[in-house]
Amino acid sequence: MPATAANKPLVIGLTGGIGSGKSAASEYFARLGIDIVDADIVAREVVEPGSDALLSIAQYFGPKILLADGSLDRVQLRNIIFSAPKEKTWLESLLHPLINQRLREQLISATSAYVVFSSPLLLETPQHQLTDRIVVVDCTPEIQIQRAAARDNMKRYQVEAIMATQINRAERLSRADDILMNQGSLQELATQVLKLHQQYLAAATKSSDNPRHD
Ligand code: ADP
Repeated sequence: MPATAANKPLVIGLTGGIGSGKSAASEYFARLGIDIVDADIVAREVVEPGSDALLSIAQYFGPKILLADGSLDRVQLRNIIFSAPKEKTWLESLLHPLINQRLREQLISATSAYVVFSSPLLLETPQHQLTDRIVVVDCTPEIQIQRAAARDNMKRYQVEAIMATQINRAERLSRADDILMNQGSLQELATQVLKLHQQYLAAATKSSDNPRHD
């Protein structure tokens, strides 16, 4: 049955620090037929060439903020806002309402038994309010650094700088309803995802058996 505003799907928020394995975990949920709403993808969509937001950014920072193909030069933008809090605030006040609107639309139109909402900043922003339950992908900071550095060809200090903008491991874990411990193999991660999937399916079935009377 497709979800409607009155029959909103169960939303599982999935988060974790950079390199913890969010994308890997999302991929396993997707293979089980679960719709994924990914905050990183939505954040890119709202500034696609032709979008109003990209036009506003080009007017504010000047056309040098665009690459030759007309798309946003994310590396340059990241460097600007990293050292200029005022510019970061301006950008966030433009993009956050657009991103949140689109996230809500995607979550409400999910058609799988439940939906996974993956976001690196789920707990740092009001995005967690869109979720019914939170699963944290966890590993040691050292493993995070090694994985993220290898994946993105970054130096250790660059990964550490991003980690410093995210909440710390203890606080993240304290806010988790469920934890995917990702310090072993990808197969071990997939096994844990399958177990949670079965729990979430059961929870989703139960809540659709007892529709809310509002
Ligand atoms: P995130 O989305 O949290 O930043 P990713 O899922 O992209 O993290 O994982 C970071 C990198 O580590 C990726 O290249 C991914 O393939 C790899 N990775 C994730 N989990 C494991 C694991 N259990 N074993 C080996 N490599 C892993």
